[in-house]
Amino acid sequence: MLAATGNEMKRIKNFIGGEPVDSLAGAFIHSVEPATGKVYSELPDSDDRDVDRAVESAKAALPAWSSAPAEDRSRILLRVAELIEANLDDLARAESIDTGKPLSVARSVDIPRAVKNFRFFATAIVHFGSESHATDREAINYTLRRPRGVVGCISPWNLPLYLLSWKVAPAIAAGNTAVAKPSELTPMTAHLLGILCREAGLPPGVLNIVHGLGAKAGAAIVAHPDVGTLTFTGGTVTGAEIARTAGPMFKKIALELGGKNPNIVFADADMERAIPGSVRAAFTNQGQVCLCGSRIFVEESVFAEFVHRFVAQVKRLRVGDPLDADTDQGALVSKAHLEKVISYIALARKEGGEILAGGGPPETIADRCRDGYFVEPTVAAGLGAACRVNQEEVFGPFATVIPFRDEDEAVASANSTPYGLSASVWTRDLSRAHRLADALESGTVWINCWLLRDLRVPFGGMKHSGVGREGGEEALRFFTEPKNVCIHYTKES
Ligand code: NDP
Repeated sequence: MLAATGNEMKRIKNFIGGEPVDSLAGAFIHSVEPATGKVYSELPDSDDRDVDRAVESAKAALPAWSSAPAEDRSRILLRVAELIEANLDDLARAESIDTGKPLSVARSVDIPRAVKNFRFFATAIVHFGSESHATDREAINYTLRRPRGVVGCISPWNLPLYLLSWKVAPAIAAGNTAVAKPSELTPMTAHLLGILCREAGLPPGVLNIVHGLGAKAGAAIVAHPDVGTLTFTGGTVTGAEIARTAGPMFKKIALELGGKNPNIVFADADMERAIPGSVRAAFTNQGQVCLCGSRIFVEESVFAEFVHRFVAQVKRLRVGDPLDADTDQGALVSKAHLEKVISYIALARKEGGEILAGGGPPETIADRCRDGYFVEPTVAAGLGAACRVNQEEVFGPFATVIPFRDEDEAVASANSTPYGLSASVWTRDLSRAHRLADALESGTVWINCWLLRDLRVPFGGMKHSGVGREGGEEALRFFTEPKNVCIHYTKES
């Protein structure tokens, strides 16, 4: 058992060279439980010296790990998956306490997905092939794919273990070694993952985890000359900062960034699916999923009926202690984030919007949670697609409903933001579904669903939502360096 919970102050460690260690400076940062607003753990405030140490450890582990048979790497990663699964209860509780998300979500979404990430890439690597091109009966080309070396993996707070493992699993499955930095707000499950990796027999130095601030520990990973590959998930502004450093150093980067995703409901949609589907798309994880459908476009003729039923369902979502089994909406991740979301609700009012549900902190909450960071799921109407609240990412339990006249207007409004991560379309018209899938500027289009994930598909964003794709073979290609070998075989004349 990982025993991540209890009342005493938790001490989180870096994981370097297979060992739990403090930062070299011995400095710590406090971590707060969002549901209570109270400090419950401390984590290393790592700096560039800790990153150097982690990179050295990753470099030392690289020759043996990168030349190990794929089957050996696969076996160890499968063991990591098994151990995460065996410790699901402890990990889910730790994730819920660290993030404020309902325990039920951590149990059914976050931790099972971390298991799947390890299992998927552990098996994918033994089936991964490379290309061959025959050139006019004259030559044969084949592609050698080799690990790229030390990979930096930087991940956000909304889905901590889920997104960390989405990066680390393919990186090390492909034979690289990694230095990972989780968000300083949600370090606990990464700390526990280090313990499990050790138990699984992952060789020391293959995965190193450095905790600390983005601008210090994160920036040191990005700038390190021996980290040639970077995979980052987080905000668009941070992504731009990383690209500014990594570009002139010619690093290979994958950036999974923010979103402002449209959810488009046509009059012919099956409303029994479209309405609960839209509620789920807008408010899962308190709206703190990059893929959340926060701009809900509804065809004019059914707008009033849709809004009436949608708002009724939103009002039924229970905001409460994340550890209670019947809670649908937990706390937001931090006080600063709560204030940001509240400021966008105020902006919606200022821009002329009408608040149809929510609009502020809940009136009642469990005693334990009275200093926590809660806000009710909020729905606003009367705001055009060009309003700031419909252009900027709020990343919280805040959605707008916007009527549209026809297909062209729906597409134009949906495409009107700088983002392009995902979109959902609800319709029974097959041709229209295909037309929209083609016309929407977004990395993923879901038709009559939301967040239905197959780990084999390319995942990523267009426009300001990112650069590159992760998932399936795209990830394994990203984490390997292709080299073409050309063999000429015609006889000399
Ligand atoms: P941030 O960009 O603030 O942080 C992401 C990670 O980067 C954290 O570990 C952070 O550390 C670190 N970081 C911050 N500054 C730097 C820097 N200068 N150099 C290197 N690392 C740095 O994002 P959030 O954690 O606030 O996450 C929310 C954002 O992530 C939203 O915009 C959301 O849309 C996006 N996201 C995108 C997804 C996608 O797949 N496209 C999926 C999930 C979220 P620290 O926390 O310590 O500052």
